[in-house]
Amino acid sequence: MIRVGVLGACGKMGATVCTAIAAAEDLELAAAIDPKFPDAPSAGLVPAAGVVSRSIAALQRAAVDVAIDFTTPTAALENLEWCASHGVHAVCGTTGIDAVGLDRLRAVFGPPDRPNAILAPNFSISAVVMMRLAELAAPFFDGAEVIELHHDQKKDAPSGTALETVRRIAAAREVSGRGSFGPDPTTTVSCEGARGGAGAAGIRVHSVRLAGLVAHQEVLFGGPGQTLLIRQDSIDRTSFVPGVLLATRRVASTPGFSIGLDTLLGI
Ligand code: NAP
Repeated sequence: MIRVGVLGACGKMGATVCTAIAAAEDLELAAAIDPKFPDAPSAGLVPAAGVVSRSIAALQRAAVDVAIDFTTPTAALENLEWCASHGVHAVCGTTGIDAVGLDRLRAVFGPPDRPNAILAPNFSISAVVMMRLAELAAPFFDGAEVIELHHDQKKDAPSGTALETVRRIAAAREVSGRGSFGPDPTTTVSCEGARGGAGAAGIRVHSVRLAGLVAHQEVLFGGPGQTLLIRQDSIDRTSFVPGVLLATRRVASTPGFSIGLDTLLGI
């Protein structure tokens, strides 16, 4: 039995993950941590955990093997550094951690005597496959743009998935010897931001925020007389659960600090 603690347990993702851990036969919801305990309306929705607390220190009291973090970028960095120095493996879904933060995490989870961590900007299997397909398509087209669409409460933009997608498209171009796509032809912009933001290698990313959406992304490739559209939809937060459970079960045997689920899925 793997003893699991969920950080951000009263949040939208945290509560979904708590329910999934409680339902899994090989996992035990040993701790649920959130500053909102015990007052948030969502607190009552968190299935009974061994220990319920506002403080991460309770993970030690609950003898947790793996902590799962769905909080905020600042909180996640602090939480993961705490896990690294307290022998707790970490699975992190929180997005918006910058490059400096990722380097800090690589350093603290790097030494062989430390626990392991898996961070994934997107735990839905369809999104992981979408990014891999985008990487495969990248060398064969003249341009690419990414449109990511999320619910109206998402705090960071663009999404971690969009940033990771353009990073991987740019890297695949580099490896194939095709280099960056051509320059943006736009000379006049009458509405600021109309061309989106420039991600890795200048690839354009457009962020949509609307009530009714969950998490969606389109990757568009173009070449002479043809386009390719890869679209992925997470229509419910349960789409993230199989990936989170996979990482939770495998993190103890995945040394160091890893980003993404590709290796775990063998793609
Ligand atoms: P949310 O509903 O705002 O939940 C975040 C929760 O974390 C809140 O209850 C928050 O409490 C709590 N929190 C803040 N600091 C904390 C700390 N130090 N320790 C423990 N809990 C703390 O957000 P969400 O929609 O669940 O999303 C959370 C993160 O997951 C975001 O970065 C989002 O982009 C990401 N996400 C990733 C995936 C993926 O597949 N990787 C999928 C969906 C979402 P307060 O509100 O009181 O601060």
